[in-house]
Amino acid sequence: MKNISNSLILLAGGKGKRLKNSKNIPKQYINYGNSNIIELFLNNLDHNIFDIIIIVCENKYKKKYLSKLNNKFPYHNIHFTLSGKNRQESSKNGILYLERYNPKKVLIHDSARPFATNKIFKRIINNLQFNDSCIPYIKSNDLLINTNRNIYFNNKDIIQIQTPQGFKFNKIKNAHKRTKNFDAKDDGIIFSKIYLKNKLIKGEKSNIKITENNDLIFLKLNLKKDIRTGIGYDIHRINYNSNKKLTLCGVKINHKPLIGHSDADVVYHSICDAIFGSLSMRDIGYYFNNKNKKWKNANSLIFLKFAQEKISKKNYNIKNIDINIICETPKINKYIILMKKNLIKYLKIKNNQISIKATTNEKVGDIGKGKAIASQSVITIEKNDSFI
Ligand code: ZN
Repeated sequence: MKNISNSLILLAGGKGKRLKNSKNIPKQYINYGNSNIIELFLNNLDHNIFDIIIIVCENKYKKKYLSKLNNKFPYHNIHFTLSGKNRQESSKNGILYLERYNPKKVLIHDSARPFATNKIFKRIINNLQFNDSCIPYIKSNDLLINTNRNIYFNNKDIIQIQTPQGFKFNKIKNAHKRTKNFDAKDDGIIFSKIYLKNKLIKGEKSNIKITENNDLIFLKLNLKKDIRTGIGYDIHRINYNSNKKLTLCGVKINHKPLIGHSDADVVYHSICDAIFGSLSMRDIGYYFNNKNKKWKNANSLIFLKFAQEKISKKNYNIKNIDINIICETPKINKYIILMKKNLIKYLKIKNNQISIKATTNEKVGDIGKGKAIASQSVITIEKNDSFI
């Protein structure tokens, strides 16, 4: 067996009744985006810190919400054990599970504090070289009042205790075994009952405990946004033998049309490809094959609507879209307002989220000779935040 030095007990047995949610489950299993709070924590945890992680939880929640953790985080060595009837018992269960590995150090952490940084874990582990326990605290900047007796506390005398709390494994194991039915709210109290004094170090203000619905705002602030970008490009030749009209970005223009299987709206096509790119999908030709008679002379608005629906279905919003139209003729500027109106309507975005720029190709190549029109689009999309 690998030599186990640093271990982590993650307490996830709490019921979290103060945080209301539609599924009526403890807060540590609430999904934010694609991850619950335990997964968010493990995602940010440096896998070099701990040799083993014990998650203490109820079996029914483990089965439902945590059974795939080792697949998701193969670099963390995650084990499970059952929670007890209160925090003290859960903590002790974690320690008893760890006994067979006999680690040098154990850190005990509340799973409702997903923002504890790797820095605080490392600092506590370093402190345990010279101390038998190490517990982080913060001081309150707010006035503290006892409302029963209407007295102010001196802020200097009051500290707020946090987790992770670190201990030499044998010491905290001994303290837990000797402290029965005490219903301790943290492990520092159990340690100090036997060994009197804990080493205290400065904790992190950002390491808040998610307790009430209001606290979920911190999750929102701390999460990395899922923002994606897509690029699209298209070019079509101009048909000088046709008497039909040109369609660009859904606007009919008195100009020779473009050659294509559909209506050859080069702008809509480049937007579609930008959208498909941002969603890691295939390209426009994959969904609307130009060999398929169904799309002969088709209005490209069908393609644009299809792409827009994919964004909505995958729960993204368009942040902005930037479009280039490259041609010698026609002069695009007078059509830009009409083009924007179409995009506002069909992409369900606002005017200030759209940019349409027109340029010539300086007489270079087929575009420069007026034989073709090209368009480029870049789109940025963002995943909607949603709790279950
Ligand atoms: Zn095209």
